[in-house]
Amino acid sequence: MININNLCVSLPSKSGRVNILRGVSFAVAAAETIALTGPSGSGKSTLLMVMAGLEPATAGQVLIGGKNYATMDEAALTKFRGAHIGIVFQSFHLIAGMTARENIMLPLELAQVSPPEAQIRADQLLADVGLAARAAHYPAQLSGGEQQRVAIARALIAKPPVLLADEPTGNLDQATGDLILDLLMKLTEQYKTTLFLITHDSKVAARCDRRIEIRDGMILDGSSK
Ligand code: ADP
Ligand code: MG
Repeated sequence: MININNLCVSLPSKSGRVNILRGVSFAVAAAETIALTGPSGSGKSTLLMVMAGLEPATAGQVLIGGKNYATMDEAALTKFRGAHIGIVFQSFHLIAGMTARENIMLPLELAQVSPPEAQIRADQLLADVGLAARAAHYPAQLSGGEQQRVAIARALIAKPPVLLADEPTGNLDQATGDLILDLLMKLTEQYKTTLFLITHDSKVAARCDRRIEIRDGMILDGSSK
């Protein structure tokens, strides 16, 4: 489902170019759950953003479902991302001026699903994440854990084959984070979503099928097998 081949990202800095990803390669099968772990600054978020097609690679390839990002222009990539990739961030990234339901419906609107159909599916997802009673609340009226539930529902409503999550429990207290993780694992299993999850937490990593470790922009030998 995911093929990463010799991916490199280098960016200009005052002291010359810095190599953030230095030849990263791994593959992930459909419906597999992967934990990506590594110290702060090792390149985890950069890797996820390149896998999402939100930042460019300097060299190497990202293939999702066999489709190579390098062959797509910006418009094609945006369309592809909408249909194939859900993303959950540490800081929720909900749209403040939209209710929980409207936030969740957004990917379906972009996919031109009719509003009545989108609302039916959003309300199903709201129920799945335990927020049926919060449909008309705005993000500022929700707790952090509730906002992350909305973000997870939004990421999954278009049933993307791949979900990318960057420390989704990082801004939550332990108990809330555990519940959010349970929900994420349950829904991705239910939908057979391929999950690529960045985490600091070994207990979280242990719940995934496989763990990949990154250090200084390189995958640790043996950790991707
Ligand atoms: P992680 O998510 O593992 O903490 P990141 O991918 O955010 O790591 O960052 C990896 C490295 O790249 C860090 O040293 C960071 O300072 C650097 N970095 C990230 N974004 C940029 C940028 N836009 N320009 C220059 N350096 C960056
Ligand atoms: Mg990060």
